[in-house]
Order: sequence, then structure tokens, then C-alpha cells
Amino acid sequence: NLSESLKSIMRKISGSSFIDKDTIKEVTKEIQRALLKADVNVKLVLKLTNTVQERALNEKPPAGMTAQDYIIRVIYEELLKILGTDSNFDLKPQTIMLVGLYGNGKTTTAGKLARLFMKKGLSTGLIAADVHRPGAFEQLQQISGDVNCGFYGEKGEKNALKIVRNGIKELADFKIKIIDTSGRDSLDQELIDEVHEIKEKINPDTVLFVIDATLGQQAGPQAKTLHDAVNIDGVIITKMDGTGKAGGALSAVADIQSPVYFIGTGEHMDDIQIFNPKKFLSRLLGMGDIDALMEVVKETNITEEEAEASLDKLMSGKFDLKDMYDVWEKFAKPGLLKKFFGALPLGKMPGGNKLDESQLDQADEKLRLYRVILDSMTFYELENPDVLNAKRIKRIAAGSGQGEKNVRQLLKEYNAMKKNMKSIKKNRNFKKMLKTQL
Ligand code: GDP
Ligand code: MG
Repeated sequence: NLSESLKSIMRKISGSSFIDKDTIKEVTKEIQRALLKADVNVKLVLKLTNTVQERALNEKPPAGMTAQDYIIRVIYEELLKILGTDSNFDLKPQTIMLVGLYGNGKTTTAGKLARLFMKKGLSTGLIAADVHRPGAFEQLQQISGDVNCGFYGEKGEKNALKIVRNGIKELADFKIKIIDTSGRDSLDQELIDEVHEIKEKINPDTVLFVIDATLGQQAGPQAKTLHDAVNIDGVIITKMDGTGKAGGALSAVADIQSPVYFIGTGEHMDDIQIFNPKKFLSRLLGMGDIDALMEVVKETNITEEEAEASLDKLMSGKFDLKDMYDVWEKFAKPGLLKKFFGALPLGKMPGGNKLDESQLDQADEKLRLYRVILDSMTFYELENPDVLNAKRIKRIAAGSGQGEKNVRQLLKEYNAMKKNMKSIKKNRNFKKMLKTQL
């Protein structure tokens, strides 16, 4: 994978503060290959890699950063520019229109959004404006029942605009109204006219484009055509649970330059997450260690209180995957982890052995990989590791691109860690010692 090939190049040139043209070209080619494999549009790949090459050749790495780390950072920054940094969805009362092709997940997403907004205290009503798909009315009605939100639809009515007009009136008391529109197998004029008319006459506050992450090269042109018709304000990428690629979605986002707000990670109404560009990128590139690389120039500056709180958590009886994740978040900076685990008196622990230097280096590496896996779990799973059955493990493996074996290995180590934590919980001296080591 990309991460491996990059690393081998990096190893070759490590130690030099100067990187020649050929090396940069070589690195760029690796990145191109990885992006194309992830279904990113060719034009976008070329544009991106040209910029990366140019910057790598002309810019000087900041003090404290090696040239090779700098190239990675440039790639990362350029991709991030496309995705935008954290664009938080504005949680204000509004009318939202969902658009997108058939089967991309509009109707499901309408329900997921309703649940999400209601959790934030915003009453939500759904309007069934898909007048073409048989059973669309019933599907949305059922979903509204499931998430317990408002609903408006007119069974049998073929005029979408009329339904939306009436729906807005009927659902006037709801803070948020979500219009679920029709889709098609491919973009045709009738559909475009329909959504265009709703947009013009109703003027919804926010138009969100729902796109399936598993779509390939056709994603970009689709997005562009719809954007021209209704002016897309934001994007929701669905079915992220089914692919580690999602390059089509990235191309679409690049083409219309709208922020991604949410991702869909399953068929259930809770399977929606706020979009995190960094996570998305490391998944797309198969680079579990992007964050670690980004940390190279930063100091490892956790405060003593933070360290103490994390240790307390670690030592407390309850210890789920989220706790483990929190600890890793704080300590998983290059070197610091090594220090942390080096400080554990594993030799004195039941069944444990003291780790040597090379094992500690491996631990650093492995934990970075584990973080990518944990990133692919839902909050529910992190808090209830017991629910992780074969089906969930399979999904997490696909989502993180790390393989089922690694997911199972992580769970095994979590269980071992949990057991160890219990046995050292009572040992006050141990905690004291650990703290002084940090
Ligand atoms: P629409 O035609 O755009 O309204 O799409 P639907 O909402 O009817 O969804 C089409 C199919 O995709 C349904 O079977 C959904 O359960 C499924 N689906 C939607 N979002 C997701 C998701 O995030 N993950 C997975 N695995 N399936 C999804
Ligand atoms: Mg639908």
C-alpha cells in the first residue's frame, strides 16, 4: 500500500536535508497510483500531484522538519484544501433539501439527520417529495415513525412542488424541515427540472447533496450537473462503511467546492457521523500515521493535569475502547508512547514481559495502526466493546482498510490490557511511578 511504498522511499533518502527532482517525481508517482486506485478522478490527481511537486521542489521545509516529512505534509495539506478543514454544520432552524441520484441514500439520510437534530433539541419534520419511486412515501413515513419525527406526504400526488409547499405549511411548527426529493438512475432533464423548480420556488436555506462513497469516476460530473441546477451548499457522503476508497466522492467535492458535513456509516438511523477530513484522508490513502507525521514539528505538550486525568481513567475499574482511545489520543505522539509503555513495569505484571527497545518502536507503529481502526468504530461500539460481533468487525475492517485480523488483534490486546489494568488498579505506587515518568 501507499504507506509502505512511501516509507521505503523515505528510508532511502533519510538523513539528507536535500531531496532531488527524481526522488520527488518518484514519490509523486506513488501518490498518483494510490489516489487513482482509490477512484479519484484523473484530472484531479494530476492537478494535485503537480502542485505537490511544485511545492516540494520550491519550498524549504521549516526548521525541525526533514524534507521527506515535509513532502508528506504538502500532500496532506493539498488534499485537505480540497476537503476543507472542519466545516461544522450550522445547527439553526432551517429548511433543508436533499438531492442526489437514486439509491445514494437520501431517504435514509433524512431520517438520520432528523434523529441527529432532535438529539440537539431541534424539532424536525420530513417532507416526502419523491413522487417517482414506488413506495417512497411509505419508506419515509416508516422512517419518520422509527425516529419519531414529524412527517408530511401526499400519497399518489405527482406534483412534488405542491407537496413541498403544503408540507412547509403543515410542518410550520418544526424548527427543521427536510425535503426528500426524487432520484434517478442517471441524471436526466426531468429530474433536474424538478429539483430546480423546488429550489427556485421554495428557496430552501440549505441544499445538501447526498452521494454514495462507492461511486467511482462518474461522481464528479454528476455533482457538477446538479450543482449547476440547484447550487449545492454541502455534501453528505453515505456508505462509508462499505469502502475504503471514496475517491469518487472526493472528486465530486473537488468539482463543486462545497464542504462535506456528514458521512453515513451504515443502514441504521444512528449510523451518521460528523465529517472529519483528516480521518477521511488517512482512510483514503491507507495512511494510518498521517497524524503522527503531522505531529513531527509539534511539541508533545500534554499538561500534567491531562496526563493525570488519563491515568486515573486508565486505573479506574471501567475501561472501554473509548477510554483506551482517549489515552492513546493523548499519549500517541512519536516517542511519548514509547516512554509511556516503557514505563510500565510489564515484567512485574501477570504474564507480562519487559519490552525491549525494538519492541517499543514496534508498539509505536502498531498503536498508530490501531488508532485508524478505532476511528472506524461508532461511539456505541467504543463504549460497548462487547457488541463487536463478526459482522461489525468485518465492517470496521473494511472501513479502516486494516483487515479483520488486525481488528481482532486490537480487541485481543484491549482485553489483555483491561485485565492488566484491573490487577494493577490497587497499586498506588505504580501510578505514582508512572506519573513521574511522564
Ligand atoms: P435514496 O434512493 O437516495 O433515497 O436512497 P435510500 O435512502 O433509499 O438508500 C438506498 C439504500 O442504501 C438503502 O438500502 C439504505 O439502507 C442504504 N444506505 C443508505 N445509507 C447507507 C449507509 O451509510 N451505509 C450503508 N451500508 N447503507 C446505506
Ligand atoms: Mg429515496
